[in-house]
Amino acid sequence: MSANDGRTLGPGTRVTAAGRRDEWTGTPGHPGAVVSPPVWRASTHLYPDMAAMRAYPANEDGNFFYGRRGSPTQWALADALTGLEPGAAGTVLYPSGVAAIAGVLLTVLRPGDVLLMTDNAYEPSRAMARGVLRDFGVETRWFDPADPDAFAAAICPRTRCVLLENPGSLTMELVDVPRLAQIARQHDVVSVLDNTWASSLGFAALRHGIDIAVMSLTKHVGGHSDAMMGSASAGADWYRKLRLRAQGLGIVVSPDDAALMLRGLRTMDLRLQRTTASALALAQWLAAQPQVAQVLCPMLPGTPGHAIWRRDFTGGCGLFSFVFRGGTSAARDAAIDALSLFGIGFSWGGFESLATPIDPAAMRSATPWPPAQWDPADRFGVRLAIGLEDAADLIGDLGAGLRAWSEWPA
Ligand SMILES: *Cc1c(COP(=O)(O)O)cnc(C)c1O
Repeated sequence: MSANDGRTLGPGTRVTAAGRRDEWTGTPGHPGAVVSPPVWRASTHLYPDMAAMRAYPANEDGNFFYGRRGSPTQWALADALTGLEPGAAGTVLYPSGVAAIAGVLLTVLRPGDVLLMTDNAYEPSRAMARGVLRDFGVETRWFDPADPDAFAAAICPRTRCVLLENPGSLTMELVDVPRLAQIARQHDVVSVLDNTWASSLGFAALRHGIDIAVMSLTKHVGGHSDAMMGSASAGADWYRKLRLRAQGLGIVVSPDDAALMLRGLRTMDLRLQRTTASALALAQWLAAQPQVAQVLCPMLPGTPGHAIWRRDFTGGCGLFSFVFRGGTSAARDAAIDALSLFGIGFSWGGFESLATPIDPAAMRSATPWPPAQWDPADRFGVRLAIGLEDAADLIGDLGAGLRAWSEWPA
């Protein structure tokens, strides 16, 4: 399947076909091919003779040169991800999602530039702004993710780039991406979206006006909590710049990990369907429990952002949060400790369910948390990453957690 011709096919068909070129799965001169690209472990690529070495081909995709420019296993994964992102001309792979965000921002930004970031952004992105980017002379300003006018007002002549997360992976606040991307374009501001939550299957970032779409492949694409990687997909112009900057930074991913990502990708649509359905069932159940003040899940009808979710997304995932009605941090810890089917750990998108405490208040820069219209006592949150277990069992487990919360001495 060549890049993007699968837009009329369904997502299950697209993840099955993506990146499977005969030139990467067969051997020249021998009929037939294997299904998945083999793992090409390589640093050195051999040239047949001196003339071939001296005439080595241009720095383009699919040319053997040296291991740092990859081999067919990495090329097949990048090609598959490009094929799944309508409007993309290419994809750069990075050793983690955070490395992908860094690789993109270090391509787009120059000393003296201003980066705008949505206030729902993930903490390591914020830490990058306060650390690496500040050290390199880039200033970051945060804005209310719910307010496109605040974004427009924040743009100044030095603004070069905006980093969006949709939804924010802790508070699940959605952003009106088409509107923000349009405002960015009018002001020559490069728009970058961390699209890890929905993936390219659930949200077609470039089609909604985004210049560069980033994913942590560690989450849905890998799907098995056993490998880390990130990606950035873009149209031809930005793809070329991202690729050269990544080469300049010495970025390369292991072919073994690329093969794990390709394996995960084949079941991604199926897993997302299952975890989305389970997450909705759990979110609905939680919303009816007296211990729960807020369920933060844009897929749930009646929640903030649901209208945007219905308008812009073609799929969801198993990640959402909820906030207890009052209580204490210790009661929340007791609730999480009482869960036996949910692991306690960071990350998400694996086949196993996870629970993590969230405290967004300490992270906000432009907007308060909890939101002004909530009871200020409602602030102890839990983020759930729903895996492939049966939803009824997970609901039973959450019931035990809520009981532990209720029994915690006030
Ligand atoms: C996990 C995550 C990342 C970072 O990915 P790693 O592969 O863990 O480095 C980036 N963005 C979001 C929204 C994430 O949840």
